[in-house]
Amino acid sequence: MFDYLIVGAGFAGSVLAERLASQLGKKILIIDTRSHIGGNAYDCFNDDGILIHKYGPHIFHTNSRDVFEYLSQFTQWRSYEHRVLASVDGQLVPIPINLDTVNRLYGLSLTSFQLEDFFASVAEPKEYIRTSEDVVVNKVGRELYEKFFRNYTRKQWDMDPSELDKSVTSRVATRTNRDNRYFTDTYQAMPLHGFTRMFEKMLSHPNIKVMLNADYREILDVIPFGKMIYTGPIDLFFNYRYGKLPYRSLEFKHETINTPVHQPVAVVNYPNEHLYTRVTEFKYLTGQEHPKTGIVYEFPRAQGDPYYPVPRSENAELYKKYKALADATPEVHFVGRLATYKYYNMDQVVAQALMVYKKIVEAGDDTSEKANRELARV
Ligand code: FAD
Ligand code: UDP
Repeated sequence: MFDYLIVGAGFAGSVLAERLASQLGKKILIIDTRSHIGGNAYDCFNDDGILIHKYGPHIFHTNSRDVFEYLSQFTQWRSYEHRVLASVDGQLVPIPINLDTVNRLYGLSLTSFQLEDFFASVAEPKEYIRTSEDVVVNKVGRELYEKFFRNYTRKQWDMDPSELDKSVTSRVATRTNRDNRYFTDTYQAMPLHGFTRMFEKMLSHPNIKVMLNADYREILDVIPFGKMIYTGPIDLFFNYRYGKLPYRSLEFKHETINTPVHQPVAVVNYPNEHLYTRVTEFKYLTGQEHPKTGIVYEFPRAQGDPYYPVPRSENAELYKKYKALADATPEVHFVGRLATYKYYNMDQVVAQALMVYKKIVEAGDDTSEKANRELARV
């Protein structure tokens, strides 16, 4: 009999499988409907031998030393700082909006101090920052908001920024200096041999069995297990009792191009033209050398795999109802982006999973000697 059935072999499920097996000696069955481990972070070589991210660009960045050190047990790293350009008014300019963005867009040569004055002169100060529109117009005014954010957001979410929580566009900084990195986290690096290799190592413990191409509902009555860790959509788990939680989907169009380099940076955003939001060239992320190059276009979709929870207050209310059901189901732990309906990055999911593991240990879920030793340490 398995001690735990873990539904989903992405970051949430894999971290918990690894911890429970290696630290507590638990027997784990981890199951995924997909044909591979790694969840949305899965990468693989395409037919041309180029390492690609099947579900769009995944760039690892974190301020958490604990998370970075934890993952470092399973991979070496390749330093990588992410840079993005946006196609606006016929030019490719840095996003996050910074000094160079404004100078190039308007043919100016402002200094950082002058840019602060410029932003102050165009900003629409808001007393309460509530929506994703408020966040941007409050800082850089309506014109830059419309050039960079309004249409991209409408494409990505099929919703106006004024209908989305402030947390969505708050993900993207605004700068008055020339720093053109997308993230400023302390740790920014990619797994040296890719995410999938890292997941393989995490799940290589002899106590962990992996079952692919299978929905957990197919095996519930067939394979005995003790407790469950669930990382799929929370509304699905409860058979949509209160209705569907909205998740936004994407369609990925992958291509190989017969040239070593396609675009000047890893990601180019297209806020205003095209039906896709962005184009990613993977070789920048992976460091792979290859005479050809692999790119992916992202087309936002209403239907399809659930990729993004949609941050809006009514969705948070609906999630709360499901969360109450989850709280009343103590034999199942709900973890990860879909099961806790949070727009989390990979590092936040790892941190959440490590926290759940700590709680399992603290709850005295296990009486083995090893568990007691672990308890003494936390
Ligand atoms: P998932 O990776 O979604 O894993 C859940 C797994 O559960 C899936 O594999 C699914 O198949 C499985 N499952 C669901 N239902 C069932 C069922 N009934 N039975 C069996 N299995 C089931 N984060 C970053 O930090 N940096 C980035 O650059 C970044 N870029 C992203 C780009 C895109 C396009 C997307 C969509 C996300 C991005 N993320 C990024 C977020 C990142 O993908 C997530 O934080 C992380 O992968 C979530 O891990 P998870 O384990 O919670 O969920
Ligand atoms: N966004 C935008 N224009 C951009 C980049 C981002 O309007 O050029 C908005 C958009 O709403 C997007 C959100 O900011 O969904 C978060 O951007 P991020 O790059 O973090 O999106 P993710 O990588 O999670 O898809």
